[in-house]
Order: sequence, then C-alpha cells, then structure tokens
Amino acid sequence: MQDCIFCKIVNGEIPCSKIYEDEKVLAFLDISPINKGHVLLIPKEHHKDLFDTPDDTLAAFAKTAKKIAKAIEQATDADGINLGQNNGKAAGQEVFHAHIHIIPRFSDDGLKHWPGGKYKEGEEKEFAEKIRSKL
Ligand code: AMP
Repeated sequence: MQDCIFCKIVNGEIPCSKIYEDEKVLAFLDISPINKGHVLLIPKEHHKDLFDTPDDTLAAFAKTAKKIAKAIEQATDADGINLGQNNGKAAGQEVFHAHIHIIPRFSDDGLKHWPGGKYKEGEEKEFAEKIRSKL
C-alpha cells in the first residue's frame, strides 16, 4: 500500500528499531512508547486490521507476540505485559495496517486500566445470546 507508513517500514523506506522479523511478520519499537520497550508486531503484507488478516498470519502473530512479550519482560524487568490490538477508528486505531502493541508494564507506571461497567437486568444474557448467534 503506497501511503501506508507500516508498509514503508517493511520496505525499508522509513527507518525503524527492528526487534524481530521472519517471512510473515516484523516487530519494531513504537516511536511513541506507552512505556519504554513498547513493541509493535505487524504482518509484512498489508492487511488493514484483524479481520482483514489471514488466519495463518494470525497464528504466526500469536506465537511471535508471546516470544517478544517474554523478551520485553526480561529486558525491561517488567512486572507485567499488555497485548493490545485496535480495530477501527472508534477503537483507537490510527495506523490502518494490522498490528499488536506489546507493552511492558510496571507496578508504579501510573497507568490506569479501563473502567468496568455494569449490565442492566437481563442484558448480560441478551448480549451473550446476540454474540453467540454471530459465531
Ligand atoms: P494504533 O493507534 O493502534 O493504530 O497505533 C499506532 C501506533 O503506531 C502508535 O502507537 C504510534 O506511536 C505508532 N507509530 C506510528 N508511526 C510510527 C513509526 N514510524 N515508527 C514506529 N511506530 C510508529
């Protein structure tokens, strides 16, 4: 994709701090890290989001994300690791080339988790049924 910043990174047109690559995926440091050591893992082929990414690439993703998460944990002495994956503008996706954020977390990093909501009477069942019906 001509105007995709991550395709440009894959093609070597834009520099990155490369962490890992194989025939299917590339991992590099996020330029604007949530915590230092924050890595982005992307498919080398252009797929705009999770839904657009073929299953075999997703399988490579999961395996590699685990491996990189472990390396980040050891290298940064992290207390935990978040894996994050945004799909669509409303979900915070800014770069429309699928990617997983692998983020080291520290007990004192001050970041807050998303607040949890509540279901009204009967809603939990309704949502579970609606989602099951689409599988
Ligand atoms: P998202 O909001 O999930 O689409 O995340 C896109 C991420 O890409 C952000 O965390 C950016 O900091 C990161 N990013 C954008 N441009 C670059 C770049 N040239 N090199 C590394 N990371 C980048």
